[in-house]
Amino acid sequence: MYWEKDVETLNRKKLEELQLARLQETVKRTEKSYYYSKLFKEKKLSANSLKSLQDIQKFPFTTKDDLREHWPYGFIAVPKDELVRMHSSSGTTGRATVVFHTAHDISVWSNLLARCMFMTGMRKSDVFQNMMTYGLFTGGLGFHYGAEKIGALVIPAGAGNSKRQIQLMMDFETTVVHVIPSYALHLSTVFTELKLDPRKDTKVKIAFLGAEPHTEKMRRKIEGIYGYKAFNSYGLSEMNGPGVAFECPYQDGMHIWEDSFLVEIIDPKTLEPVADGQEGELVMTSIQKEGMPLLRYRTKDLTRIIPGICPCGRTHRRIERIKGRTDDMLILKGVNIFPMQIEKKLMEIPDVGTNFLIILDRDEFNDSMTVKVEVNKKYFAGDIKQLENLRKKIAEELKGELLITPKVDLVEPDSIPKGEGKAVRVIDNRKD
Ligand code: ADP
Ligand code: ZN
Repeated sequence: MYWEKDVETLNRKKLEELQLARLQETVKRTEKSYYYSKLFKEKKLSANSLKSLQDIQKFPFTTKDDLREHWPYGFIAVPKDELVRMHSSSGTTGRATVVFHTAHDISVWSNLLARCMFMTGMRKSDVFQNMMTYGLFTGGLGFHYGAEKIGALVIPAGAGNSKRQIQLMMDFETTVVHVIPSYALHLSTVFTELKLDPRKDTKVKIAFLGAEPHTEKMRRKIEGIYGYKAFNSYGLSEMNGPGVAFECPYQDGMHIWEDSFLVEIIDPKTLEPVADGQEGELVMTSIQKEGMPLLRYRTKDLTRIIPGICPCGRTHRRIERIKGRTDDMLILKGVNIFPMQIEKKLMEIPDVGTNFLIILDRDEFNDSMTVKVEVNKKYFAGDIKQLENLRKKIAEELKGELLITPKVDLVEPDSIPKGEGKAVRVIDNRKD
């Protein structure tokens, strides 16, 4: 049941002692990087400033902009010849940031992923199909190394090419997949097109859904279509990539691996810590990294610590499913809206929402929102009234959730462009 029982169930006191020792080592290491050495001199900080875990609060935050400004090598904490791998973020919110790993970092990271996958029930006997982009993106190689560590047979399928994905799944009797949730829904339309039923025609029993925010409803919908158990997988390049936090068999929040990451949740406005259980921005310090350790990295991801102990016996705290990024929030006519609120509503309506897109426009002084929604093909073959009723129903449901009335535009499956990576949910035409 556990990949590393000792670490996964370490009691809090011991876990915190381990964290403090690793934090002190990390700060010593960061003193060797261009960025932190300068910063520490200015602020008169050093590893000696850390007597307790709370002392981390004396250190300034590190942001994505800091990484961008000191691109590419400003944060490396070892001589360049110690580095063995580079990765980069996806660049979802601007210029992609780069991260570097030593051989030790790759080994720790792979082990974390093995721990995550093993926790959900994946074993050596499994056939693992990794449907993520291989290359600079961390979701490909990260999971690949972790799965090999478990000893599973890995199919490095990469992203896209849906018909081949399905063929591979059937020919080699794939039992575990790693997939972006929006792609899992898209892929289901290809199964339908091929007149195949993923529940009957494949042997997949476990899926890892990661790389983008998705609602509980979306997870349940995907599980329903495929008949497998889907586990939420969270990570970001700056903290290795996937393998930061992962769901256990209870599927109630993601255990965040506190032997590798020191976790804080802050109010993104005041930058003050919030109490356990309160929502805020996740801030993390990597305490096992050599190549490019980061202190108090502001992820911009919104979540909260789930209070209480998980029945699985792991002592590492759980974070709730990510609600979105602080910069995902849309403001329309003074109302704050997260794309996830729209997804949640759409997933409640049958036959709706394999893909959707939010379009914001401005004419003269008025802002408007159009939600383009893919619906089951049958609505376009039948009575036009049926389609109109569905449109009205969706508009009403969304109004109930958002308090403003969006325009709703129903389209056929696969008519909203779908790239291979993270789904684009919002097009904002209001910016000039
Ligand atoms: P980018 O920040 O450019 O997208 P990454 O590829 O490093 O680059 O992606 C990390 C980000 O992806 C996280 O900060 C988070 O916003 C999002 N993300 C990853 N996994 C999940 C998940 N399971 N749920 C919600 N968001 C996720
Ligand atoms: Zn658990």
